[in-house]
Amino acid sequence: MMHLLITPNSQFPTPKKLVVAAPNRLGSWVLGVGGYRLAAMTGVLALSVLIPARAQDNRMNTLAERYVRLVLAVGQHDADYVDAYYGPPAWRTEAEAAKVPLSDMASRAATLAQAIAAAKPPVTADELTQLRHQYLARQLESLRARVSMLSGTKLRFDEESKALYDAVAPTHSEADFAKVLAQLDAKLPGQGTLVSRYDTFRNRFVIPRDRLEAVFKAAIDGCRSRTLEHITLPASEAFTVEYVTGKSWSAYNWYKGNYRSVIQVNTDLPIYVDRAVDLACHEGYPGHHVYNVLLEKNLLRDRGWVEFSVYPLFSPQSLIAEGTANYGIEVAFPRAERLDFERRVLFPAAGLDPATTTQYYDVLALVDQLSYAGNEAARRYINGEIDAKGAADWLEKYGLYSPPRAEQRVRFTDQYRSYVINYNLGKDMVAGYIESRGGTAANTQRRWSEFARLISSPRLPSSLAVNPKSQVPNPKSKP
Ligand SMILES: [Zn+2]
Repeated sequence: MMHLLITPNSQFPTPKKLVVAAPNRLGSWVLGVGGYRLAAMTGVLALSVLIPARAQDNRMNTLAERYVRLVLAVGQHDADYVDAYYGPPAWRTEAEAAKVPLSDMASRAATLAQAIAAAKPPVTADELTQLRHQYLARQLESLRARVSMLSGTKLRFDEESKALYDAVAPTHSEADFAKVLAQLDAKLPGQGTLVSRYDTFRNRFVIPRDRLEAVFKAAIDGCRSRTLEHITLPASEAFTVEYVTGKSWSAYNWYKGNYRSVIQVNTDLPIYVDRAVDLACHEGYPGHHVYNVLLEKNLLRDRGWVEFSVYPLFSPQSLIAEGTANYGIEVAFPRAERLDFERRVLFPAAGLDPATTTQYYDVLALVDQLSYAGNEAARRYINGEIDAKGAADWLEKYGLYSPPRAEQRVRFTDQYRSYVINYNLGKDMVAGYIESRGGTAANTQRRWSEFARLISSPRLPSSLAVNPKSQVPNPKSKP
């Protein structure tokens, strides 16, 4: 899911559509599972532990297959639902042929939920085994909520985000954004509205089209080398970058399986220089590409956990995916390093004056503090308190969205509704979790190791919260 931050600074991201399995995907997937079973069977020393562990694993694998088939079945009724799938192609073919009615799906999901509840691992099982069980149960619960929505159930914004993403975003009033807007007003003097002055200011930081590839290449190299210092990835991992037009999103990661992604960058609108690092980290390293690679490697191939061959868009997984992709920008580039890299490498590559770097990032840091205005507009709009025009006005006034971006954002909300919380609340929850475990800016080694651990394991959003207060938005900015 793979697009960028919800800020007035970018086009609004659009969730990914179906990803077709790479042709050779099935072969390697089967090998991965086979390899795991063989390894388990040749173990002799821990046989007494292994047998119940294997029994638990086999039981869960059977339930996981039913879950994957259900996700694919829901995808027949909701074109946005299956974000990526690289398990056995035959399962999807079967889902397409069967086209199970929604009413049948609801009862199948209920039956499966009972079976999963009955397969709870013993308390002596290791942490990953426990997490696997909790995660599968909760992902299925969100599937049931989505099926109910597709069948006509209307949920309020917070009910929906809780049901689908396992999280509720804090509420804000207009007054909460007033202080930041006043600071921006002082920083951006001149004629016209604050939104238009902000637009004028930003236009000084556009990457010229003919320099785009060089700037992105430098940004990707910077994100990748920083990530590889801390996270080991399979040697064959790679992604390609394509420049496209005529899209409603700013960038997009299509995960193909086999440790490969295709990242598309939309050049319809001017691309500002800060987007290079944001995008390279969010979509690539250590964001979505790395997240998918590690899930495929650690959970699907090494353990044979087939539920990770499918990614349902409207599920708790999306909060983790978007939250880690956004937090990963800061992990790879803490503010001082980022400013240095921008000044030395990217501003010159984009033909911009390096002396303006700090001024630019100071303004962006303030605008970033308005990100929860986007959630608020969506909440009021979905709850029917304001109409589309009212939502766009709110975004312009309190979130500094220019009129075209505000209009695009409202269209996104029509389709994806409470998904919007995954970007900023997701980031803040991930930050709170990692920092509470010692992964602070002052301890980058620890921050990287906690980050790698989080994106390699099935952890639910609600388990990230150290206490409910940690979900209060932290108006901490990206650099
Ligand atoms: Zn994303």
